[in-house]
Formats: sequence, structure tokens, C-alpha cells
Amino acid sequence: MATHKATKLGVIGAGGVGSATAYAATLRGAADEIVIYDIAGERAEAEGLDIAHGTMFASEAKVSGGGDIEILRNCDMVVVTAGARQQSGQSRLDLVDANVRIFEAMLPKVIEVAPSAILMIVTNPCDVLAVVAQKITGLPTERCFASGTVLDSSRLRWLIANKAKVSIKSVHANVVGEHGDSEFPVWSAANIGMVPLDEWTGEDGNKLFTEDVKKEIANDAMRAAYKVIEGKGSTNYAIGISAIRIVEAVLGGEDAVLNLSTQIRGKYGIEGEAAVSLPSIVNRAGVVRVLDVPMNEEEIEKLRKSAGEIQKTLESVGYGD
Ligand code: NAD
Repeated sequence: MATHKATKLGVIGAGGVGSATAYAATLRGAADEIVIYDIAGERAEAEGLDIAHGTMFASEAKVSGGGDIEILRNCDMVVVTAGARQQSGQSRLDLVDANVRIFEAMLPKVIEVAPSAILMIVTNPCDVLAVVAQKITGLPTERCFASGTVLDSSRLRWLIANKAKVSIKSVHANVVGEHGDSEFPVWSAANIGMVPLDEWTGEDGNKLFTEDVKKEIANDAMRAAYKVIEGKGSTNYAIGISAIRIVEAVLGGEDAVLNLSTQIRGKYGIEGEAAVSLPSIVNRAGVVRVLDVPMNEEEIEKLRKSAGEIQKTLESVGYGD
């Protein structure tokens, strides 16, 4: 009989994103033990308790939080959400300096207590910070990546599903590139139940996803976070559950294909060390393979532009090479 090895998930940051991530992990039973670490120790302890008090109605995970980094000892996976949050009108790249400093101080201690953990960066700009984190920790690139455009792809599918009036689960469409302003959907491969999106017709029999409609949807998917931030100050629930979908794929050893952000050196003619999102196979070893997605020339050009933006930011914070 196979025996279950207990899994331990660490979440760094007990703010809006970290607590939503830990809560989603508990609801979905993503790990046997869930710990939340924050320099604001009381906050982390309180979030841990609040989530733990509901475990009777969720998975019976052991949940706790605190301000001592020891709480992360021997985690199998650590999701990093600590950092400065995006203010209204501020781009994700504006956050970079503050968050690089936080990572330099924090990550060496994390790796000391959890040396075999898989590290996933959610803190923005997550593509840049995944590379920074990999360099600070010296982890192999497959074990240090960012949540990338998993969330953006879910937003895109939600928009397409609403327009076509079909279940979101029947929409196959992906956002790739930067988790940020230069991201883009790979329309050439998008489909609903095997019908290419370009062929999909509305109730009147006319093509629904015209160039103008696709442009609007791509823009809405990219701007989705800005709209939520305007209304409630930050985003947290959708990123929390997206992060946990990735955790499940890792800790469950799923070999799932998700749009994670890793260094893709050499693919599509992209040199340098930028991490960008592309559909990738993820399992207990981390991101084990980035898929060679067929893209048209225009899409490849956009991907290169996205990688160029990330590379520029990496260089501006001294992590370019
Ligand atoms: P928040 O301000 O609510 O929480 C951040 C937490 O980090 C705070 O509790 C703070 O005490 C903690 N922190 C700061 N420095 C720390 C350190 N050195 N060690 C431990 N903890 C530390 O912010 P939030 O709304 O939870 O957002 C967190 C991050 O997630 C931001 O960078 C935001 O842009 C990002 N985010 C990413 C995505 C994505 O898709 N990648 C989506 C939403 C938000």
C-alpha cells in the first residue's frame, strides 16, 4: 500500500495575497500543513488562527502563522507574496527596487531553513523577481519560478467564456510573456471545444471574435488587475487560488501544463536571463519543461519584446547577467 508523505506548504507574507493563498490551500486541501510567515508576526499568527478555525469545514490541514522564520523549516514548497503592494496607477515594474531589497534580506534565511523547497514567486514584478530570487538562492531554475500568467490566462478565459456564453472550463486560451503590460494572448492557438476562436460564431451566425473584439479582450485581460485595484485597493482572491492550483500541480506531482514564468534561455531567439511565461510542465521537481508552442511571427515578436522589458528591468537592478 502506498503511504502518503505529509506535505508542508509555506506562504511568505500575511497580507491580502498571502492570506488568500493560505485560505485557498486549506479549502482545496493542497497540503497537510500550511504555515504563514511575515515580519508582521502578530498579523501572520492571526491569519493562521482565523484560517485554522474553519478547518472543520475544509481540509483538516494544520494551519499556523508567525513572525519567526523557523516556522518555514522543511517546507516542501514556499510561495513568496511578501513585499510592497501595487498602488493605484503604479505599474508592477515600479515595485521592483523595494522588493529586490526585501528578497536580498529574506531569501537566504528561507533557504537555510527549507533547503529542499520549491520556491514560487508571486510578489511583483514576479518575472523579474523570479530571476532575482534564483540568483540570490542559487537554486536550479526549475525550482525557482514565478506564478506568471496562470492568473492572466484565467482572466482571459473568463472574458472569452462570458462573450461566447460557454463554460470557462471549455475555453482553451493562454496569455504568455510578462505578467504585466507587455503580456499577450496566443490567439492563433485559442479555441472553444476544438473550434478555433476565429471561427466561433455568435447567435446571429456571424464571427464573434473579430480583430476589434480580440483587441478589447486582450486589453481587458491585461488591465483586469488595475480595475480591481481601483475598486478595492488590491487583488487577492483570484491570485490566491491561481497560486494554489500551481501548488497542487507541484505537490501532487501532476505533470500539469501551466503558464508559469521561468528563464527560457535560447527559445524563440530570446537570449539573456529573462523569465517569461509559456505553457510549461510542472511536477514535484518544479518546472521540468517549457513547451515549444507554435506561434506566428507577430506573436514571437511580442514575446521577444516582453522578454526585453524584463531583461531591461533586471539590468536596472543589477541582476542582468
Ligand atoms: P500586502 O501589503 O497586503 O502584504 C504584503 C505583506 O508582506 C505584508 O504583510 C508585509 O508585512 C509583508 N512583508 C514585507 N516585507 C517582508 C519581509 N521582509 N519578510 C516577511 N514579510 C514581509 O500586499 P499584497 O496585496 O498581499 O500583495 C503582495 C504582493 O503580491 C505584491 O507585490 C503584489 O503586487 C503581488 N501580487 C502579485 C500577483 C501576481 O499575479 N503575481 C497578483 C496580485 C498581487
